Order: sequence, then C-alpha cells, then structure tokens
Amino acid sequence: MTSRRHASSWYAATANPHPPHPPLEGTVRCDVCVVGGGYTGLTAALELAERGMDVVLLEAERVGWGASGRNGGQIITGYNKPMATIERWMGRDDARLLWQLAEEATAQLFERVEKHGIRCDLTRGFVLAALKERHMAELDEVMREMRDAYGYPHLRRLDRDGVAAMVDSPRYIGGLYDEGSGHLHPLNYALGLADAGLAAGVRIFEGSRALSLETGLLPAVVTARGRVQARFLVLAGNAYLGGLVPQMTGMIMPVATQIIVTEPLGVERARALLPNNAAVSDMNFVLDYYRRTSDHRLLFGGGANYSGRDTPGGKELLRFKMQRVFPQLRDVAVDYSWSGKVAITMNRMPQVGRLTPNVLFAHGYSGHGVALAGLAGRLIAEAVAGTDGRFDLFARIPHTPFPGGQRLRTPALVLAMLWFRLRDLL
Ligand SMILES: Cc1cc2nc3c(=O)[nH]c(=O)nc-3n(C[C@H](O)[C@H](O)[C@H](O)COP(=O)(O)OP(=O)(O)OC[C@H]3O[C@@H](n4cnc5c(N)ncnc54)[C@H](O)[C@@H]3O)c2cc1C
Repeated sequence: MTSRRHASSWYAATANPHPPHPPLEGTVRCDVCVVGGGYTGLTAALELAERGMDVVLLEAERVGWGASGRNGGQIITGYNKPMATIERWMGRDDARLLWQLAEEATAQLFERVEKHGIRCDLTRGFVLAALKERHMAELDEVMREMRDAYGYPHLRRLDRDGVAAMVDSPRYIGGLYDEGSGHLHPLNYALGLADAGLAAGVRIFEGSRALSLETGLLPAVVTARGRVQARFLVLAGNAYLGGLVPQMTGMIMPVATQIIVTEPLGVERARALLPNNAAVSDMNFVLDYYRRTSDHRLLFGGGANYSGRDTPGGKELLRFKMQRVFPQLRDVAVDYSWSGKVAITMNRMPQVGRLTPNVLFAHGYSGHGVALAGLAGRLIAEAVAGTDGRFDLFARIPHTPFPGGQRLRTPALVLAMLWFRLRDLL
C-alpha cells in the first residue's frame, strides 16, 4: 500500500476518509489508461467507465494530490477570455457553442456532486470585486456580454453599498454578483469523483508515476513496477506532467500560487466578513481570491510566481494582502499555508487535443479548471467513444506555444507579467 500523503493543507486536514489505492504491479490490459488523478483524469475515467469501458487510472502520488486537491475551490462561469475575443478567433457560431459548453461545465459539476452524493460543501454565489473605476467599466462590458449577448441570467451589478453588503471590506468600489458560480472543498470533490469512478469499475493505482509512454496501435504506459497496455491513453497530468511528453511542455506554463487559511474565527466573525457566503475574486491581474470555510475560517489565495517555484516569504505576503482586504483580521493567526501549480496557456483557453489518434490530452484551464477540467474529461470520454464533435470544436481553439522554447519561456513571461503587475498598481 502507498504511504504517500497529500500536501499539508486545510484540505488534507478536513478530507473525507480516503483509503489508499495500491500501486501498479505487473502488466495489466484495459481499454483506456488515464495518466493523472485530478479532475481531468477522474472525470474522463468516470465517464468512460459509465460508457462500459475498462479503465485504468495511474496517479503518481495520491488522487487529488495536484491542483485539484489544492485550489481555491472557486467554480467560475465561462472562460478566462471575454466571449468577444473567442468570437474573433472562432466565429460567432462556434463561440456560442463554446459558451454552452462552459455552462455545461458548471452544470455537470453540480449534477455529479448530487448524483454521487459527494460531500464537498458545494455552495452557490460568487463576487467579482472592483478596485478602481477602470474595473467598473470592465464590469459593464461583462454584463453587456454575458447577460445581454449570451443570455446569462445570474448576474447582478453591485455598487459600493451592494458589494459592502457581501464583503465587509473597505477596498472595493463595486462588483458583480454571480449566483451561477460558487465554491466547494476541492480535495473532497476529487476524492468523491474517485469513489464514483471506483464504483463504476475504474481501477485506480496510486504511487504509480508514468515514467515513459509507448505510442502506436496498442499504446502503453510504463511505471516503476508495472505496465499498462491499452487501446487509448489519456494524458491528464496538467501542470504536474513535467517532461514526460516533450511535445507538450511548451504548450503550458506552470505558475505557482499560494493559499493561507486562518485559525477558526467563530461563526459570527466569519459570517460578518462574507455575510452571504459567496466566494470572492478581485479584478487585478494578480488577483486576491478568498472564501469562508465550513469550519468558519477565511481561506485566502493569491500571488503568481511565473518561475513555477514558490515565492519566498509567500505566506507573510499573503497575510499582508488578507489584512489589506480585511483590516479587522489583524490579530488573527494563520494555521495553514500551501502552494500549487496552475497551468496557463498562451491564450488562457483550455487546450484539448490528440498527440496521436489514440493518445488524447487536456490541460491549461488557466485558473478556471474547477469547472472546465470536468468538462474536458467528459469531452475526452466522448471522443474515445467515437463521438468527437464537441471534442473537435474545443480542439479547434487556436493555440500557440510559449515563445522562447523551454529555456527562455520563463524569463520572457516574467517580463511580460511585470507589465501587468505594474498595471494593477495604477
Ligand atoms: C493554488 C491553486 C488555486 C487554484 N484556484 C482555482 C480556483 O479557485 N478555481 C478554478 O477554477 N481553478 C483553480 N485552480 C486551477 C485548478 O485547480 C486546475 O485547473 C484543476 O485542478 C486541473 O485539474 P487537472 O486534473 O487537469 O490537474 P491536476 O489536479 O494538477 O492533476 C494532475 C495529476 O496528474 C498527476 N501526474 C502528473 N504526472 C504524472 C505521471 N507522469 N504519472 C502519473 N500521474 C501524474 C499529478 O500527480 C496530479 O495529481 C487553482 C490551482 C491552484 C494550484
């Protein structure tokens, strides 16, 4: 049995029971081998098994060990790009289909949680908080686009008093309230997906890193003590895949971001911060994001290190940022701090595709993966089952690799990001 652990976090401390899955020993055969036990791999595996396929899932560490067990838990409607930009790239009709898929991404998450009885504190409500006048103009544009052009019914514009009623902070001048978005306990959601997969017949192996791949008519994955021979491979390692597939490394950039969680605040004090229990993100490029936890703490995330490494002093920096939003938390201790890697693409849209006809992949949700990774898993399952229209629509999103190749892409991006950080200060 594996003795590997999740990153030390509030999520790990409050995880539902999750007995370990054994490591892979020897050779196994299956229809589909999935590499990676985050939302992408888990939902692909679950949906494939529900279609009657024999599925093996390999996870290098533990299920939910990557971004899926560490994230801010914010379920955010839509993409990291305005629909107007997507229309320019794809045309109006395809953009509309992509919008519907983003809506399905949120819907399938809520449906899965209910269908499989996943205990993950799923809650509706999200505030996008504006810090400056420029942001208010951007919010008007978001309203025009999402509500008026795409018929999204869940948005409400907030003035200064409106946002103050939802977020007890002096920092914001307005915002948008989105009743269609929300938040959850990300690790418990991942563990629940794994349980559902297991019940549907997925064979899960933890502590089983894919060390090499063989492509061809009958592709295979090799681990330290085993080998999986399959008809299809699904690569779902996202920011944690490393150099396993050299063709894929330039397509995404792993960005490190950090989260802290306070000591318990008590019911009244926690409620006073966020009275309607919405998740919040501000509108800066390097944004603050936060929410209440089920045991009445504040979970606060932010920062972005484009080298992919943790920011030195990151915990103290985040504590400073938290107190800038909520000066009333000056006396509060921080009980937990951890970091993780988000995968971004050049155009900030998810990327799905095929390395070869029977090796599929999805990654690069650019901060929207809590909802979109589950959708990508579904599209992969559809494509493997032979219905690839929606997968192919997604695969047509135009992507380019990060400039500068593997060695130069980080310095180039750090410089580019510096400009956006400076812009946050204006
Ligand atoms: C700190 C943080 C905050 C975030 N906040 C939000 C948020 O609030 N809202 C939002 O929508 N998104 C957020 N994200 C992004 C979101 O978590 C991801 O988009 C999503 O979890 C991606 O899921 P995934 O399954 O593709 O990847 P992951 O969850 O990273 O899973 C990949 C898995 O593959 C495994 N793996 C890698 N290589 C191998 C190999 N060779 N063999 C076997 N296994 C392998 C890894 O161990 C890992 O468990 C955040 C991310 C981080 C890190």
